[in-house]
Amino acid sequence: MINFELTDAQLALVAQAHEFARDVLRPAELELDRVADPEAVFTSKRFRDVVRETYRLGYHKMSFPTHMGGLGMDQVTIHLITEELLWGAPGIAQGIFVGGFVPFSAMMSGQSSLVREFAARYCEEGEVHFSALAGVEPHLGSDFLYVNENTTRLRTTARKVGDEYILNGSKAAFVSNGGIAGMLGVPACIEPERGMLGTGLFIIPGDLPGISRGKPLNKLGLRCLNQSEVYFEDVKVHKKYLAIRPRGENWRNFVHSFLCFGQVGVGSTAVALMRAAYEIAFAHAGERVQGGKPIIEHPNVGLKLFEAFSTIEAARNILLKGAWLNATQFPGDLAFTVAARAFACAHAPRVITEMIQVMGAYGISKESPIEKLYRDAKLTQIEDGTLDTVGLEAMRIMRESAASTSHAA
Ligand SMILES: Cc1cc2nc3c(=O)[nH]c(=O)nc-3n(C[C@H](O)[C@H](O)[C@H](O)COP(=O)(O)OP(=O)(O)OC[C@H]3O[C@@H](n4cnc5c(N)ncnc54)[C@H](O)[C@@H]3O)c2cc1C
Repeated sequence: MINFELTDAQLALVAQAHEFARDVLRPAELELDRVADPEAVFTSKRFRDVVRETYRLGYHKMSFPTHMGGLGMDQVTIHLITEELLWGAPGIAQGIFVGGFVPFSAMMSGQSSLVREFAARYCEEGEVHFSALAGVEPHLGSDFLYVNENTTRLRTTARKVGDEYILNGSKAAFVSNGGIAGMLGVPACIEPERGMLGTGLFIIPGDLPGISRGKPLNKLGLRCLNQSEVYFEDVKVHKKYLAIRPRGENWRNFVHSFLCFGQVGVGSTAVALMRAAYEIAFAHAGERVQGGKPIIEHPNVGLKLFEAFSTIEAARNILLKGAWLNATQFPGDLAFTVAARAFACAHAPRVITEMIQVMGAYGISKESPIEKLYRDAKLTQIEDGTLDTVGLEAMRIMRESAASTSHAA
């Protein structure tokens, strides 16, 4: 029988994360969101301190095994805690979760030297190690996902010379943590004749000679998530850093597993944003009196809030199943996780607009955090693949699977 009840331990962990998100993360994110110059955000003591505090509590290493210094938590518990942190500070929290990309890839590679250098170091007490996936390039955004077609390839190249590869190329301005990551995941073209299937993933220290970064992107929302270009000029990388080789289905499996986790993370951000907006609007509607009664008692306002509540619950529950699927199969169920993410992210900006409507003019003021939630929500429709492109990829997989089932029948 399916059981939706959380254990006492899960409830306690969620409550603890909520308290931290409310008291520490949210005030920092609201303050930093207002800073006009993004460079000033990421060099500030405020940003460094809040990240250090989040690391001190171990939220960056929830999925890493205990023998390595991680917290060894299951995916469903991680998902519940993640929603709380995203609720408080979507930009800071996304940076922290994306920051585990290289250590996670090291674990996936199964190469003990990489596990030691990246995953074990990442889990050390007192250390703050951010990482980044420097994937998209100026000429190649959505095409990063299309591993089936040989019509395109990455222009960042890796040329083998003896025991080393020489990396050259530029990654686009959208790389999360691009300007601050001490560890980099770099997909590069090794076998050009195989298009995207000729891609290998290097995981490397971020301070190798020849690596440079752009300025942090000045953007609409998620302003506390650092994004910037990463440049590679004749960067010498030892062959041991090639975590995923361009062999057979390696690259496709990597992209699919990375997407499955990413879809659930981005969808969870959308849920957290909708929930935060709903809570603010609900409280306001209970206090604001117009037409002789609290506006929540006017059916049009009450129904808007109820519709938001049901959308949030539906999105949260479908994403929980996505998190569970990610934990139980490799490389995850892309069609399902895309569906879950699409549901949450397609609704998020609309639900938040409706919550602003409930607030009236109070909703557009910079004094209320709700306008920020709206700006943040738009980005969830683009990151980790636009809603359209991941939907098309999911549909392709569903057609392929239907065709193979009908052959078998
Ligand atoms: C907050 C955020 C964080 C990000 N973090 C990272 C990161 O850590 N690392 C990284 O490498 N990248 C990152 N990205 C980049 C992200 O992966 C890309 O923005 C995304 O894949 C879309 O690419 P694009 O922006 O170049 O848009 P384009 O690919 O140019 O798409 C533009 C429009 O055309 C449509 N379109 C494109 N191709 C097709 C097609 N084949 N069929 C139909 N429609 C199509 C799209 O749906 C979209 O509406 C991030 C982006 C954001 C917003």
